[in-house]
Amino acid sequence: MSIQIPRGTQDILPGDSEKWQYVERVASEICRNFQYKEIRTPIFESSELFMRGVGDTTDIVQKEMYLFEDRGGRNLALRPEGTASIVRSYVENKMHGLANQPVKLYYTGPMFRYERPQAGRYRQFVQFGAEALGSEDPSIDAEVLSLAMSIYQKLGLKKLKLVINSLGDLESRAAHREALVNHFKTRIGEFCSDCQNRLEKNPLRILDCKKDRDHELMSTAPSIIDFLNEESKNYFEKVQQYLTSMGVDFIVDPTLVRGLDYYNHTAFEIMSNAEGFGAITTLCGGGRYNGLVKMMGGPETPGIGFAFSVERLLAALDAEGVELPIDQSIDCYLASLGDEAKDFTVKLLNDLRIEGISAEMDYLDRKIKAQFKSADRLKAKYVAVLGEDELAQNVINLKDMSSGEQQKISLESFVEHLKQKCQ
Ligand code: AMP
Repeated sequence: MSIQIPRGTQDILPGDSEKWQYVERVASEICRNFQYKEIRTPIFESSELFMRGVGDTTDIVQKEMYLFEDRGGRNLALRPEGTASIVRSYVENKMHGLANQPVKLYYTGPMFRYERPQAGRYRQFVQFGAEALGSEDPSIDAEVLSLAMSIYQKLGLKKLKLVINSLGDLESRAAHREALVNHFKTRIGEFCSDCQNRLEKNPLRILDCKKDRDHELMSTAPSIIDFLNEESKNYFEKVQQYLTSMGVDFIVDPTLVRGLDYYNHTAFEIMSNAEGFGAITTLCGGGRYNGLVKMMGGPETPGIGFAFSVERLLAALDAEGVELPIDQSIDCYLASLGDEAKDFTVKLLNDLRIEGISAEMDYLDRKIKAQFKSADRLKAKYVAVLGEDELAQNVINLKDMSSGEQQKISLESFVEHLKQKCQ
């Protein structure tokens, strides 16, 4: 039996790969406008990094990591997300010492999680994310949110819902935590074993539990909004004020939580409202993580970021019926008649390509009619025909496929001529 692709992964074939390139290009360009610079980190890291950086009470670390030991006996993991690696690199490269602060970074690349594959959920997926480290100004929170929304909007998505919440500062979170423990503890036996473990370690994560989502204590659980102290309230209000002034629409949802210890203040998700998008509607998630850099061995440094997957973004574009403006055409198809003309065409084709003209020819000795068919399939803007007669006269016959106009061009000036036309 032939070998098949691993479960939860996909091949991105020509025809689709152009969409990926387009999305990555647009997202990178917008990051440039917002002054976020690209960072590339390894696809595998020490597994310890994610245990600390993502948190050992999370599903990602407990159940979903691809772990392996290398030949030198090191414990490694395929990265399940980007933030931990970025923070490691920030600390290791002493980016807190850079002159330009805050440090604003973006990344893209494959992430790996051993999840149950379904529509919108893969075991290998590509995340695009951004992080801003070194400022605790609410304007950065608003900027990061606007960056994510701008990428989606620029690509043509309209049916979006931005949901935000505040998890408050350490003091607010501690008060909320205590209230949560008191709320759940008498009936914790009715919850799954994961939630029972979370009660003391990280009760906020109980609210995230997929299994116990419908338990009656969930809807009556104390809301973080009621535990925000003055400073946290002001911070949250300022973020909202900036978003409003930027014209970024949002909804406040006090039940939105990101259950890691180092998360604080702003938490957010962007969902798709598109009909037929499917059960998983979250396109993007992010939040502020002021404790993370310190926890990873760096100096006290505030941070905020988001990540979305290209897979879900493309699914949302599909659901909204957005066609990306991808140009699949080529500039010129070189058709030839006879052996001598073909030999000349091989060289001419190479000259065109070197000069930045996208060009193709026939490699299968097809008749001229079939060559024209290929040119049509490739959406060639021009077809140049070289036969024995043309070769004898030192010319080539150039046809503009949109107007049907034909012209004889001298072979010496052909490349330059076409270059002018295709610019
Ligand atoms: P997270 O890192 O879990 O907060 O996820 C951030 C974003 O990554 C989500 O909103 C999704 O767009 C995407 N994502 C997470 N897990 C997967 C997956 N298994 N397959 C595809 N996309 C995913």
